[in-house]
Amino acid sequence: MSEIYCSVVIPVYNEEANLRPLFERLCKVMDADGRPWEVLFTNDGSVDESGDILREFHAARPKQVRVIDFNGNYGQHMAIMAAFERVRGQVIVTLDADLQNPPEEVPKLLKLFDEGHDAIGGHRKDRQDDAGRRYASKVINFVREYTTDIRMTDQGCMLRAYSRKVVEAIARSGERSTFIPALAYKYASRPGEVEVEHAERAAGESKYSYYKLIRLNFDLITGFTLVPLQWFTLFAAACSLGNMALVAVLLFRRFIYPGASEAEGVFTLFAILFFLVSVCMVGIGLIGEYVGRTYQCVQQRPRYVLRELLEDLE
Ligand code: UDP
Ligand code: MG
Repeated sequence: MSEIYCSVVIPVYNEEANLRPLFERLCKVMDADGRPWEVLFTNDGSVDESGDILREFHAARPKQVRVIDFNGNYGQHMAIMAAFERVRGQVIVTLDADLQNPPEEVPKLLKLFDEGHDAIGGHRKDRQDDAGRRYASKVINFVREYTTDIRMTDQGCMLRAYSRKVVEAIARSGERSTFIPALAYKYASRPGEVEVEHAERAAGESKYSYYKLIRLNFDLITGFTLVPLQWFTLFAAACSLGNMALVAVLLFRRFIYPGASEAEGVFTLFAILFFLVSVCMVGIGLIGEYVGRTYQCVQQRPRYVLRELLEDLE
C-alpha cells in the first residue's frame, strides 16, 4: 500500500451495538475519498462483544484495520493516546464509536486540512445530549476560557483532525490524565474549526457519569494552567485583609468603646470562622490535585498495558 494519507482513531468501550454500522459507514466514506487510509480502534477494556467484533474487522481488512487491545479501562483520552503513538497517516481524525459523530462529516475536516490547517476542531450543530450535559459544558467552557489560553468553541466534540506533526508532539508529551483537544491546540500553528452534525447516541449508554465528567474537566484545568492556584492565593489574601479589619473592629470595641451586647457577636464570629475553614479546605483540595498529578508522573508506571496488538504492517 502506498503511503497512508488518513488515520482514523476510534476509542471503544462497550460499543457492541454501534461498531458494525459505524465501520460500514466509515469504510464507505473513506473508500469514496480514494486516498489510502487506515483505522485504529483502541479497545479500552470492553466487557461486551466489542473485542470480537474488532477482531472480525481486522480479519476483513487486515491491512487497513489495526486494533489496540488494552488490558483494562484507561479512559477515552488514553485510548486515543495509544493510537496516536502508532498512526502512520499524514492527517489523523478522531471519532467517537457511538455514531454521535457521523463519519460522513470526516471529508469536511480533511478539506480544512488540505487548506493548511493543522488542528481542526468540529463544533456540534444542534448538540443531541440532555440539557444537564449541555449546561455543564457551558460552565466548563466558561472556566476554561478564563483560566487557560485555550480557545475553542466546543471542547467536548471529539470529531477532530490533526496533522501528523501535532499528533507526534502529543504522543511525545507522555501525558497521563490529559485532554487531547487542548494539548493539540497548544501544539498547533494553524488551528481551525468547522461546524459538524451531531446525532443522538445510536445505542448503549454514555460512558461518562457526572462524576467522571467532573474529573475529566479537572484534568483539563489543572493540566493546563496554574491559574486556579493563583486565584486561590488572591482570594485567600483578600480574606486575610478582611479579617485584619475585623480584628481591628473587635479590639476597638473591646478596649476603647466597649459595647453593651458583645456576646451577640459570638455567632457571627463562628460564621466567619467556618467560612475561613472552608476556604482552607478548598485550598488543600486544590493543592492536592496538583500534587497528585506530580505524584503520578514521578511514579513512572506504564500509562497503559496492552493485551494484544492486531495489525498487519508492511
Ligand atoms: N470511551 C472509551 N473509554 C471510556 C469511556 C468512553 O474509550 O472509558 C469511548 C466510547 O466508547 C466512545 C467515546 O469514548 O467511543 C465517547 O464516549 P461517550 O459517547 O460515552 O461520551 P459522551 O458522548 O457521552 O460524552
Ligand atoms: Mg457519545
